[in-house]
Amino acid sequence: MLYNLCMERAKLLGFEIDTFDADSAVCYAKSKKGHVITINPEMMDYASCHADFAKIIKEAELVIPDGVGVELGLRLVGRKVRRIAGIEFAKRMISEFKKVALIGARPEIIEKVLDNLKKEFPEHDFVYVQDGYFKDDGRVLDEVVEKQPELLLVALGSPKQEEFIYRLKTRLPNTLMIGVGGSFDVWSGEVHRAPEIYQKLGLEWLYRTVKEPKRFKRIFPTLPMFVLKVLRYGDKNAN
Ligand code: UDP
Repeated sequence: MLYNLCMERAKLLGFEIDTFDADSAVCYAKSKKGHVITINPEMMDYASCHADFAKIIKEAELVIPDGVGVELGLRLVGRKVRRIAGIEFAKRMISEFKKVALIGARPEIIEKVLDNLKKEFPEHDFVYVQDGYFKDDGRVLDEVVEKQPELLLVALGSPKQEEFIYRLKTRLPNTLMIGVGGSFDVWSGEVHRAPEIYQKLGLEWLYRTVKEPKRFKRIFPTLPMFVLKVLRYGDKNAN
C-alpha cells in the first residue's frame, strides 16, 4: 500500500520511531487503527526502567516523534526527521473520524472540551465522554467498549494513558486510540499553547516550564540525560 512505501522507521535507544511527515502519518493512522504513541524523552526514560511500558511502546501501531527532544535525538543518530506535535495530530484525526470518545482531564475541563469540539465539528457524534478522575477502571473500560468509537482520545498523562489504551487494544480492534497528554487542557481554552515562535524554535517545553515551574524538576534531569544517553548508545538499547 502507498502508505507503507512512504513510511520509514528510525531506531533511537532501541525504540522504533515512525518518521514520515504529518500528512502521511495521518493517512497511515487512518488506515491502520490501533495505538498511536506520541513519544518524548520522558517516556523513553520511563520505559528504560519499566519493561511493561517498553512493551507497550514496542507493540504500538504507530510511534511518532513529539517534541524537540526526540527530533534532536534522531538527528544525533543521523536521521533528519521533523517532529509532529501530538496535539495537532490528534485534532487532525478528529476531523477524519465522526464517532469519537474522549476520556481524561478534570470534569470542568472535559465539559468545555466537549462544547468546543461540538462547535468545531457539528456533524460528529461524541459517543462517550468521561473525565480522568474515575476510580473504577473496569466500568470505564466496559462503557467505552460498548460504544465502539472510531477514535478514542485519552488524556490521563503518561504512562497512565498508554497503559489504559493498552488494556483496550484487543477489545477495540477497529478503533484508533491516541494518548493526548495535556491537549484537553489546551482545547478547553483554560491553558494556552506556547506562542508560535516558541513552537517554531522547538522551545515549547521552555515556555511550559516557565509557566508551570513544577515541570522544571520533570524536564531538567531528563532532557540532558537523554541527550547523553543518545550520544553514548545511539540507536542501541541503553540497558
Ligand atoms: N489527568 C487525568 N487523570 C489523572 C492524571 C492526570 O485526567 O489521574 C489529566 C490532567 O488533568 C491533564 C492530563 O491528564 O489534563 C495531562 O497531564 P500532564 O500535563 O501531566 O500530561 P503531559 O502532557 O505532560 O503528558
